[in-house]
Amino acid sequence: MIERKKIRELLTLQPVGEDVVVKGWVRTKRGNKSIVFIALNDGSTINNIQIVVQAESFDEDLLKDITTGSCISVTGKLVNSQGQGQSVEIDARSVELYGKSDAETYPLQKKGHSMEFLREHAHLRFRTNTFGAVFRIRHSMAFAIHKYFNDKGFFYLHTPIITGSDAEGAGEMFHVTTLDLKNLPRKEDGSVNYADDFFGKETNLTVSGQLEGELGALALGEIYTFGPTFRAENSNTPRHLAEFWMIEPEMAFYDINDNMDLAEDFVKYLIRYALDNCADDLAFLNSMIDKNLLERLRFVVNNDFVRITYTEAIDILTNAPRAWEYPVGWGRDLQAEHERYLVEEHFKRPVILTDYPREIKAFYMKQNDDGKTVKAMDVLFPGIGEIIGGSQREESYEKLLGRISELNIPMKDLWWYLETRKFGTAPHSGFGLGFERLILFMTGMTNIRDVIPFPRTPRNAEF
Ligand code: ATP
Ligand code: MN
Repeated sequence: MIERKKIRELLTLQPVGEDVVVKGWVRTKRGNKSIVFIALNDGSTINNIQIVVQAESFDEDLLKDITTGSCISVTGKLVNSQGQGQSVEIDARSVELYGKSDAETYPLQKKGHSMEFLREHAHLRFRTNTFGAVFRIRHSMAFAIHKYFNDKGFFYLHTPIITGSDAEGAGEMFHVTTLDLKNLPRKEDGSVNYADDFFGKETNLTVSGQLEGELGALALGEIYTFGPTFRAENSNTPRHLAEFWMIEPEMAFYDINDNMDLAEDFVKYLIRYALDNCADDLAFLNSMIDKNLLERLRFVVNNDFVRITYTEAIDILTNAPRAWEYPVGWGRDLQAEHERYLVEEHFKRPVILTDYPREIKAFYMKQNDDGKTVKAMDVLFPGIGEIIGGSQREESYEKLLGRISELNIPMKDLWWYLETRKFGTAPHSGFGLGFERLILFMTGMTNIRDVIPFPRTPRNAEF
């Protein structure tokens, strides 16, 4: 038996007159009574391989059943192609039909379906060129992320997905419970009695692995998490999912500047990795989805990110010749329109904003001496807005405790977090990169629902 080869490999081979076996899904079939050309794709690459079938040597019914979307196995000789558009093709000797695809009802018959249509057919959209490219790039980025950190001596730490603290503060949470919702155990005051629940307490899906990540960093030195996070925020935007993946490095002995250096180096590495390893898919997306994609990726790799404070950004925005939908003012959080103005129009390159007002940032960020701002940093990208959010963490036990009581955060949930500040605390920093926001940037796609295989958004959990 001949071993199956993937199309990605076959297309690089010099024909030596030997038989090969290829398996995949039919993209198109054309030809006439005597000769049939099949474009076959197996997902290993955006490129198809051409199968040439001499009709007289094959069963007529079999050839009729080979339609767009059907799955076949082909044995044949790899030969130099006579036609244009490919260097090699396969002269079919035998064809086995694994799965028919009814021509009347196969949803992906014609090209040029809308993204909305394909989202409703998320079970099949992997078979299109666009989604094949997106999900191969997504894979490459996941691999590159592990490679980057592994090469730097960071340890991959698995932080919990079910969390017992609701103090993470990054967003609304999804409850996790095995209680019978139709018959909830109640305390005397009428509230739900979680003592009877699976964990004996109220639990939720995590919004971030950071707090546990810090515990790892304060022993292992440098760690990162890379896992799913969940936010029950009802924000129906092209940049928010209810379930998304986040990469959260956390480093002992890094100050805010080291943190910014790492964030910039990290995303540049990932872009370079994609340019070096995903050239075919990027070229396709550049021609079909976004004509400026490659130029933008190269630009970001080759230029320093601008680094300014939040206060400087507010000055720029206040003086901008622009009417804002959301008001600008010191103390207010920036909206996507503000972030994108800074990046796309004012500086025309990625921007790292630091030193935000402490009132709009989380309790764990290190307080500056001015008493007003914290050592926060957000990395803002063209077309995306915020792609990374991070900070130097407050390492002082007293200051952290002060902030926790000012904000009325329930202490009992965080005793373990505070103990790291009591026993051998250290300056440390970290950030969170939204994986899907990265993939948006990397592919030129414009809706975050189209860069995760099965998006979870308000009122949608199909597939
Ligand atoms: P935003 O202001 O854009 O809603 P955030 O400030 O709430 O984001 P963080 O809590 O700082 O986000 O999370 C870190 C990173 O995770 C963000 O920089 C972003 O890349 C990503 N992220 C946050 N929320 C979402 C979401 N709902 N869907 C996808 N990615 C997200
Ligand atoms: Mn943020």
